[in-house]
Amino acid sequence: MPNALFWFRNDLRLTDNPGLQAAIQSNTSLLPVYILDERLLQTDRWGFVRLGPYRLQFLLESLKDLKEDLQEKGSDLLFKVGIPEKEVPRLAQAYDCASVYASKEYTHEELKAEAAVEEQQPAHFYHSALLVNPEEVPFAIEQVPDVYTQFRKRVEKYCDVPQPLDPPARIPTVSFDATPLPDAETLGYKVPATDERGVLSFKGGALAAYDRLDHYLWDTDALATYKKTRNGLIGSDYSSKFSAWLANGSISPRAIYHEVEAYENEREKNKSTYWMKFELLWREYFKYVAMRYGKKIFLKGGIQDKPVRWKYREKMLRKWMTGTTGDDFVDANMRELLYTGYMSNRGRQNVASYLVHQLKQDWRIGAAWFESLLVDYDVTSNYGNWMYAGGVGNDPRDRVFNTKKQANNYDGDGAYRRLWLEGDHDPGAFLDRFLQPIPVG
Ligand SMILES: Cc1cc2nc3c(=O)[nH]c(=O)nc-3n(C[C@H](O)[C@H](O)[C@H](O)COP(=O)(O)OP(=O)(O)OC[C@H]3O[C@@H](n4cnc5c(N)ncnc54)[C@H](O)[C@@H]3O)c2cc1C
Repeated sequence: MPNALFWFRNDLRLTDNPGLQAAIQSNTSLLPVYILDERLLQTDRWGFVRLGPYRLQFLLESLKDLKEDLQEKGSDLLFKVGIPEKEVPRLAQAYDCASVYASKEYTHEELKAEAAVEEQQPAHFYHSALLVNPEEVPFAIEQVPDVYTQFRKRVEKYCDVPQPLDPPARIPTVSFDATPLPDAETLGYKVPATDERGVLSFKGGALAAYDRLDHYLWDTDALATYKKTRNGLIGSDYSSKFSAWLANGSISPRAIYHEVEAYENEREKNKSTYWMKFELLWREYFKYVAMRYGKKIFLKGGIQDKPVRWKYREKMLRKWMTGTTGDDFVDANMRELLYTGYMSNRGRQNVASYLVHQLKQDWRIGAAWFESLLVDYDVTSNYGNWMYAGGVGNDPRDRVFNTKKQANNYDGDGAYRRLWLEGDHDPGAFLDRFLQPIPVG
């Protein structure tokens, strides 16, 4: 049998990794590779570093954990900074690998990279970020419903979520010199110290992902009250915080889904346990929307091709980014994002609505700012939700959030706003210090 290169992307795990399993079954030895895309260390069209310090730090921790897991299986990780679609075929040839195996992605840049690799090397791509694969859903991709409820009901009725795959016992590996992983500073980043006010000190890697799963389900039973607490703003357990690990694939959605079902069978099944599966299906839905609409999810008119005239006012944007707009609920949320890389779902909806409807700024700038800052940035969830907020996505209604009313409903005693607004912080200086463009090369 030949050798193959296994290209890790947003699937930084050994458990429930179908591409990895297939690669091991059909090849003598593997070359496990991760290429940190150097384009993500640069700025986007709005001047934001695409991979900001919080997610970079989380990614490096995830890779460290992956490398250790590989070493336990008799393998290792070849890490490089570069352009994946150039490095992957080059390494495949250099190490005599007949083909490339990897997980599939669903968005424009990632699909272009897949096509470029395929042009140079036989390549096999596997779905590993979905609950249910496209072959199993009861509609063609061109007919993915435009309304979430229709998608959800049909998937719930007609599809089973497969059990997660076990990790491989051993990974026979091509001989190579593994170089150590870099740290954030070596890559030119300044990573802010952990802010004690943050909801959680996110730590990357599969080990931490499973710890969090155990914590949220078995240790605290927080899952059993999730539907009541999910709109919270302070503390670690009002929601699961699974998003960061899901985003880079340290854990699979199927692993979470089946753990929720195990909890339902062994401990308690109620509206809250169902709601976690309901939210995982939202995540799934945006992946299917991306498959259906391709590049449109990044265009200003969104999937509706809506002719909206957006503004671009730099000063106004900076106020939004630094949490100094004067709307205290928006400001508190934007500062939480700035200082920690995380914001609650309630907060995200409010600040997005404010940017689009109050400030009339282009939703894509908000999406790009989130892309830079969020520890849990996921291309389809982010752009799907932002299109929604911008009124150009899967909701035909323009949903405007009244931020004053929302603050009263969800932060009636003002504790959340005090937490982030009181004190001597200077968000502008913080932004300039940590979010300067990263020098590359
Ligand atoms: C403008 C905007 C941008 C967003 N950007 C992202 C993003 O880049 N990455 C991201 O993972 N989520 C994004 N979300 C969705 C949601 O806010 C986060 O998934 C959630 O807050 C993460 O915290 P949690 O894991 O504790 O969520 P929980 O409430 O515990 O939900 C469990 C899981 O369900 C999924 N989920 C929940 N809500 C949504 C949703 N609205 N859309 C898609 N999936 C959902 C996530 O995978 C989440 O981890 C965005 C929402 C908005 C309004």
